[in-house]
Amino acid sequence: MELVNLKDSSERVSFAQAVKQGIGKHQGLFFMEKVEPFSAAEVESLLNMGLVERSQKILRHLIGPDELPQLESIVADAFNFDVKLAPADDKTYCLQLFLGPTLAFKDFGARFMARVLSSIIGDSKCTILTATSGDTGAAVAAAFYQQPKINVVVLYPQGMISPLQESLIATLGENIHAVEVKAPFDSCQDLVKTAFDDQELRTEVGLNSANSINISRLLAQVCYYFEAVAQLPAEKREHVVFSVPCGNFGNITAGLIAKALGLKARFVIACNANDTVPRYLQSGNWEPHKTIATISNAMDISRPNNWPRVEALCKMMGWSLQDFDFGSVDDETTRENMRALYQKTGYINEPHAAVAHKVLCDHLKDGEVGIFLGTAHPAKFKEEVDQTLGLELPLPKALADRCQLPLQKKVLEPDFATLKSYMLDDLKL
Ligand SMILES: *Cc1c(COP(=O)(O)O)cnc(C)c1O
Repeated sequence: MELVNLKDSSERVSFAQAVKQGIGKHQGLFFMEKVEPFSAAEVESLLNMGLVERSQKILRHLIGPDELPQLESIVADAFNFDVKLAPADDKTYCLQLFLGPTLAFKDFGARFMARVLSSIIGDSKCTILTATSGDTGAAVAAAFYQQPKINVVVLYPQGMISPLQESLIATLGENIHAVEVKAPFDSCQDLVKTAFDDQELRTEVGLNSANSINISRLLAQVCYYFEAVAQLPAEKREHVVFSVPCGNFGNITAGLIAKALGLKARFVIACNANDTVPRYLQSGNWEPHKTIATISNAMDISRPNNWPRVEALCKMMGWSLQDFDFGSVDDETTRENMRALYQKTGYINEPHAAVAHKVLCDHLKDGEVGIFLGTAHPAKFKEEVDQTLGLELPLPKALADRCQLPLQKKVLEPDFATLKSYMLDDLKL
């Protein structure tokens, strides 16, 4: 598989190189220049396989026959938990992607990436630096915990992630280093970008990114869109609509890659009050506002990193941006949607899934089957869910235990020089 830097097409790298490097020159994202679609018969046959076998075939097809001989065993090891398509009401299903170790869909990408990376780095040093608005950090920390020769530094915005998310990031210790930054998520993301532009830091610690800009994470996520359709009865597979709760737009990029591969579906973009993309699709102007804190905090991103990939893919496939339905949902409407669905069918959504469900319902046409992505377990947003729905959700035991452990974190100002000296001097491999 050859990947090209979207900001400098002279930089071309293999899959392994893109995974190691994370991001290219001038902070350009690596992306494919073409996607070879499966034939209709191949898609049909893929839909009849189980998750692991099908995912092995899809990823082998994307990565190509000559790279990563361990791919098949990596997939089997990484995707070792359930994905469930659960009916939410008479027209929609929730694709429950939160049944992995940190109860968030990011487990897919992070677990796959950790295994790919450890199989390709050989004896070189490696430090994962990632900025998280909550769930990425937890998934990355869990996926890389105790991986030999790999250090992980997770930056997260002070006061903007849930106590549980913080526990998942900051209680592991060992090779997992939690850094609380006194600034919003976008500043954490800026620090990461600056770090990747710093040649000294890059080579000294073997910098690597594990957030959704890493191509391996996106590829892993392609697989569950096929799984969703495979779990539908055959007669419902023709007019599928996916509604994706978007933050950095990695998840929807993966969905669009699945579509490019031949999966029949259309896509709805669901945002919270951080509505840069919905406003852009409406007006044609890219005008990020200041990030707003919402109850769907993993989507509190006003400058989504992966958007250039969405545009590149649309251009490559001849799709128009005008074909996307989209919506932006405020907190009160999100809560109303959670309550209405719970009262109607008893189905419990947390805020991210509720945003996706709401925008899906606003745009679902007769004869279509709606699937909204359940990106986090309701218990991960227990305070909000309990309060909105008047419940006392139990926290799964593994998570409850983690919340009792002491936090091991470093608190830093949003200042690159401070971060750099911390990484160069305090972290020993
Ligand atoms: C990360 C995340 C999202 C947004 O996914 P992107 O790939 O960044 O668009 C949505 N919901 C939850 C719970 C998340 O953790």
